[in-house]
Amino acid sequence: MKPLNADLHCHSTVSDGTLEPEALAERAAANGVELWALTDHDEVGGQRRARAAAHAKGMAWLAGTEISVSFAGETVHIVGLGFDPEDVELREGLARTRAGREARAREMAAGLAQVGIHGAFEGACRYVSNPELISRTHFARFLVEAGHCADTGEVFRRYLTNGKPGFVEHRWAKLGEAVGWITRAGGVAVIAHPARYSRFTPTEEYALFCEFKAHGGQGVEVVTGSHSAAESEKYAQMALEFELLASRGSDFHAPAESRTDLGALPWLPGRLSPVWEALAARIERR
Ligand code: AMP
Ligand code: MN
Ligand code: MN
Ligand code: MN
Repeated sequence: MKPLNADLHCHSTVSDGTLEPEALAERAAANGVELWALTDHDEVGGQRRARAAAHAKGMAWLAGTEISVSFAGETVHIVGLGFDPEDVELREGLARTRAGREARAREMAAGLAQVGIHGAFEGACRYVSNPELISRTHFARFLVEAGHCADTGEVFRRYLTNGKPGFVEHRWAKLGEAVGWITRAGGVAVIAHPARYSRFTPTEEYALFCEFKAHGGQGVEVVTGSHSAAESEKYAQMALEFELLASRGSDFHAPAESRTDLGALPWLPGRLSPVWEALAARIERR
């Protein structure tokens, strides 16, 4: 049997993507996606539009979000799937998580001004469509446009990562809070792109998986746009060891920036339990 083309991780203009939810749905459907979730950072404001657009294009749909969490001095992302997007505790938790972003962005701009890059706050804001969600991605787009770097990857390396002039330490949600908001709203929490937390020691990574499970987390993203084949294999093994459901998502942000297009990624290794099978009752079809 042909595997299901599920893409359960991407971003719209409601966070740091460049396409509207409707345009994303159209692109996903054109690429053969059968089950789709929009997972904007710390936001569920696009979910109604995403559901309507998914159904208009004939795709099954799951609610989604990607919550920023601070764990062991690093930022970790937790994807939530299949929750009730109207859940009050989840919505309030996400609103609190978004609240610090503007002050952080002003500090980032101050850091950039110290190395001669002026007007970065205003410049980044030109790329922002959700005023509660100014992110490093918006700064990166401005710095490319202003000619400071050739592409957004270079901006992150030179300016926006730990120790660089535009980087500001930030306190996001706690791991247990994010997992709790998602699960109490009826959804499943998933560790997003685990290979991207390269600053973690093996012990810290093990602690992340143990504590995530202890808080009620149930899934891990095994196949995602930024994973190599070897990384997917490593986390397939971790999914089995920790008895976690496996997810698959492109993490698509923008046609000009994302290497992996919607739905265009390897299948989950067959020995794993797909998160969408556990969420069958939460999947909405037209
Ligand atoms: P923020 O939530 O403001 O910290 O921004 C995080 C976002 O920046 C991520 O969701 C990615 O979209 C983007 N990002 C992080 N690291 C990189 C990188 N090395 N290259 C390009 N984009 C990145
Ligand atoms: Mn992003
Ligand atoms: Mn992420
Ligand atoms: Mn993402």
